[in-house]
Parts: sequence; structure tokens; C-alpha cells
Amino acid sequence: MSRYADFYRQSIDEPEAFWAEQARLIDWETPAAQVLDASKPPFTRWFVGGRTNLCHNAVDRHLAARGDQPALVFVSTETGVERNYSFRELHDEVQRTAASLIALGVGRGDRVLVYMPMIPEAAFAMLACARIGAIHCVVFGGFASGSLASRIEDATPKLIVSADAGSRGGKVLAYKPLLDEAIRLSAHKPDAVLLVDRGLAPMALTEGRDHLAAALLAQHRDAEVPCTWLESTEISYTIYTSGTTGRPKGVQRDTGGYAVALAASMKHIFDGRAGETYFSTSDIGWVVGHSYIVYGPLIAGMATIMYEGLPTRGLDRQPDGGIWWRLVEKYKVTVMFSAPTAVRVLKKQDPALLKKYDLSSLRALFLAGEPLDEPTGRWIADGLGVPIIDNYWQTESGWPILTVANGVEPMPSKFGSPGIPMYGYKVKILHEATGEELTGANEKGVVAIEGPTPPGFMQTVWRDDARFVDTYWKSVPGKLVYSTFDWGIRDEDGYYYILGRTDDVINVAGHRLGSREIEESISGHPNVAEVAVVGVADDLKGQVAMAFVVPKDGAALTDAAAALALEGEIMQRVAGDLGALARPARVRFVGALPKTRSGKLLRRAIQAVCERRDPGDLTTMDDPAALQQIRHLLA
Ligand code: ATP
Ligand code: MG
Repeated sequence: MSRYADFYRQSIDEPEAFWAEQARLIDWETPAAQVLDASKPPFTRWFVGGRTNLCHNAVDRHLAARGDQPALVFVSTETGVERNYSFRELHDEVQRTAASLIALGVGRGDRVLVYMPMIPEAAFAMLACARIGAIHCVVFGGFASGSLASRIEDATPKLIVSADAGSRGGKVLAYKPLLDEAIRLSAHKPDAVLLVDRGLAPMALTEGRDHLAAALLAQHRDAEVPCTWLESTEISYTIYTSGTTGRPKGVQRDTGGYAVALAASMKHIFDGRAGETYFSTSDIGWVVGHSYIVYGPLIAGMATIMYEGLPTRGLDRQPDGGIWWRLVEKYKVTVMFSAPTAVRVLKKQDPALLKKYDLSSLRALFLAGEPLDEPTGRWIADGLGVPIIDNYWQTESGWPILTVANGVEPMPSKFGSPGIPMYGYKVKILHEATGEELTGANEKGVVAIEGPTPPGFMQTVWRDDARFVDTYWKSVPGKLVYSTFDWGIRDEDGYYYILGRTDDVINVAGHRLGSREIEESISGHPNVAEVAVVGVADDLKGQVAMAFVVPKDGAALTDAAAALALEGEIMQRVAGDLGALARPARVRFVGALPKTRSGKLLRRAIQAVCERRDPGDLTTMDDPAALQQIRHLLA
């Protein structure tokens, strides 16, 4: 058996021994009395009786060995600020923030909602919460008042931490008016609001409720706030899923299991080592930001780069499509983490930028969040000359479910496949109607996970155990098994392929087609930059496929003849790849596709517009104009 196969087997056959070993990667005040409690499925409790603290593991425990080494590197191409914090400085900042939270009445178990741009104070706030046992709930900075209000109501925070403004591509977005409106809309009101003033937008303060961070922090300059030791199973944070498929779910995470899962993933999957630099281009508003901007790298003793801005602007705030590679060179980044959507943005830049900098420190680029199409994967692999490692996971899982564990044993990646099941995950392909396990190669079914779920996995839906059980564990008939709501297959070598969301099925005259398969075929056309395929109700066939394509050269956008020709080529291509049934009824050309703020395609919204229905809550959308354009096209 290969080394990884052996490692994986142990995690499944002897989970207690396996995870007891991984638990040694972090510090415990009290070690666990019971490694795994799976007595009440589908609920899983890890390291029961153990006491630890995330902030201690991310910050304090590194002080002795690497106190003066960089911990947090802040780079903003929005404000032109670049600043390093050593572990010691980070320790000071977090204690000041923790003291400020305590002064505002926050204690163990209280919720603190963080509505912040990508600035160091956001990470300080998260770590300060972890330090004192408060539960943070980070909401993506810049979400509109309606989305924010519903999250305030759900989390019922005692305190909200925010800032005057965020900035994107040089455009300042004032947060305070959005926050004030959200608090007005919410039935729950926080006791206090702590505000970082970046000097970007004026703020109107509400007497008695709003506090400027600078004033409070100054009062607590020399504060010493010890870490509160928490039960392993105590809640560290809640975070909402991206809302791609409907009402976001409040994912609740524990403390000890999460710390162990991250420490183990840094070693076995990301292969990041203490003293090195990790660069994740995500945002703290997403799970990747929690796991691999803030906690994961710091737990591993690495410096983490916190980047505010677009991938296409420099520190001088002039266009610079090479800024990320410039940072890789400057900070000798060894591990980088981004998303396919960001790579597609970079693909529009001069490819020479990938060769301009010394990227020899970089060992791998990890990509996650959506399917990595082969052309995009190849483009960045050729350009960078380092392994591109796709990894599949969910807000719910907290760390990768499918990828390769190069820290255990180097393994090849396959284009189009995120990889194989990670240790601790019993991944199955199940027949959607019968629930029967599909064990043959390339049989398509629902990707499911059998319990007990590994450390780091969500504990439940915040304050809604019933929703947790009903939504995730009861969708496959006759079995208590976790559904990812994604389609997948496993090939003869055991590599999985994700074929799209279970609700992205298009039913044409009784034939079921995956939008993802059609998209894959279309994106292979040399003139296609991006594509979304949705099923639209049709009187005759039940549903037909509609394709929306962002062409690489703009001719198809402005010239009807060019559009017609390209539409024909695309239809022919799909018919050739997948058969005439899969051929889209129409191909429409657009300048951009509607996406969530994290860059995920909003097929659900496109479909609604195509069917002249209300696309629902669009406040988490990146660019409402993209949807507007589709509406115009169809009118
Ligand atoms: P919601 O659950 O609220 O609809 P969401 O599923 O988009 O939103 P996330 O948890 O951010 O919220 O995303 C997880 C999903 O993203 C996965 O279920 C999968 O559909 C997709 N995904 C993530 N990584 C990959 C990947 N490497 N390859 C293919 N799909 C991926
Ligand atoms: Mg989801």
C-alpha cells in the first residue's frame, strides 16, 4: 500500500488513535479524556474533556521560538499601506483588542459580529474573540444592509466590530451607513459598536452605542489578557455559507477539533512550515479566510499575508497585473491559495507578468471554491511552473475534503479532478434516488460523507439542530449520511470529479444533463473566457439549456454576424462532445456573468431571470449590472 493509502486507512479504521496523534500538533491546557464521541449521530464531538485555545495556538505559543519573526503582513493596494507585525506585535495588538472587547461587556460565549474590510484590525478582532472565548461571526464587508440585518438577527451579537469603509479598485464603500441601516432593520440590537476609523469616509456616531477603536485601544495599550482555556467542544465561531443555492446556513464550529484539523492540514496537505510565508488571496468573510488567512498559517508558525485590493493594481495604486507575483517574490511565499475566478481575471493580463518575478520560493498554488476548468488550470500551471493543486471543500467542512496530501506523500494531480478523499473523510458516491452506493468507476451520483465527520467539520447549524439534520443528513433515502449537494464521479484510479450542484440539473425531454458538463465543453472553445449554463422551463421539452458566454474577443458582443457564427461553433462543439440533446437552445454573449462576492456563479439568479421570475435576494451579488444585461438580452 502507498504511504497515503496507509495513512488514510488508519484515519478511517482507527480514528481515535489517528486523531490523538494529530492532536499533538497543538498545545492543550488539558488533554482530551475521550478523543471521539459519536454516540449521538449525526452529531460528532472531538477531544471531549480537552481544553485549549485557538489564539494561544495561533499566537502565544510561537512567542518563545519566533516572537520577532513576521506573523501578519498587511498589504493594501487600495490605500497603499504595507505593514508587518511580528508574533510579538500581534500578541500585543490582540491583547489590546481583547481588553477593549471586555471593556464593552463581551465575555465567554457572547457573539461578536465582525463586518470589516481586509485590514489587520479584522484579524485582531477574530483572534481577540478566540482569546476570551467570545464567538465571532464574520460577515463579508460590504454586504448590503438587508443581508447584514438577517445575519445580525440570527447571530444576536452583543457587539459589532466594523470600520468606516472598505475600498475596491479605488472606489470607497462607506460601511457605517450600511451598518446603521442594518441595525435599524434588525429586531436584535447590539449593545455596542466598535469602529475602526481608516479616514476613508465620515462616520456619524450614535451616542452611548458607538465607540471609536483608537480611543479604547489607547486606554488598553499595555493590557495583558490571558487566554481563556475553552472546552474543545465549545463554539469558536459561526459563519454563513455563500448563499449560492438559497438561504445561507449558519455553520457552527468547535474549538479543539478545528485547531487540530487546521494544524494537520497545514502539515499534510499544504506542507507549510514554520518561518515561511503563506499567501491566501481570499477574504476573511469566507471560510477560506478563517482557515487559511487567519488561523491555519498562524497555528503552523507561518507569516500570513493579508491582502486588500484587486489582483490587478499595485501599491502605487496604478494598474499592475503582476502585484501578486511581486509579493510572492518579496515575501518568499512558499504556499499560495486562490480561486479559479481570480485566475480567470489574471488570464486577461499579460502572461509575461508570470515570468517577471523570481517565484522560486513557491512550492504550490492551491485553488478552491468552484470547479477548476482545464484551460484555466493549464494556463496557470504553464505560467507559474509549480504544481497547481485543486481542492474541494465547503464552508461546512472547514478544510479540504478532496485534494492530494503532498505532505504525506507526493501524488500527481489530474486536471479536472480535485483529487482523492482526505484522511478522516468517508466520501461516497450515492445513487440519488435509491441511496445505494455506486462503487463502479465513473458512475455518477451524489457526493456524500458518512459520519462520524472529522475534526473541524461543522458541529451543527447555529441554533438550529433540526435544520442541520434535515438539510444535510436526510436527503439520501434510507441513510443517515451527509450530502454535499454536489454531483460527482470517481475514476478507476480513485480520483473524484465534481460535476456541479445537485440542483443544477437540466432535464431536457426526460434526459438529465449537468450544466457543468455542458459548461466544460463550451469553455474548451478558444474564444470563450467564461460560461454559465442554466436550464430554462420550456413548454415542449420541460427544460432547455441556455448558455451565457463571455467571449475573449469582444466582436461577438457588438457584431451580430460574429455572434451568430460563434453561437454556431459552440453549439456544434457541445453536440460533438455530449450529443445533440445537450446542445444549448441559445447561446448569448455578455460582458460579465453574475456572481457572488466570492466569485461563484449565480446560476439560480440567471435561471430566475430567464424564466422571468424574481431572482430573490441579490444583496450578496458582486455586480448586479451583469444580471441586468442578461435581462436586457432576453427582453
Ligand atoms: P450555499 O451552500 O449557501 O448555496 P455555497 O455552496 O456556494 O453556498 P461554499 O460553502 O462557499 O458555499 O461553497 C462550497 C461549494 O463550492 C461546494 O459544495 C462546491 O459546489 C463548490 N466547490 C468548492 N470547491 C470546489 C472545487 N475545488 N471544485 C468544484 N467545486 C467546488
Ligand atoms: Mg453549499
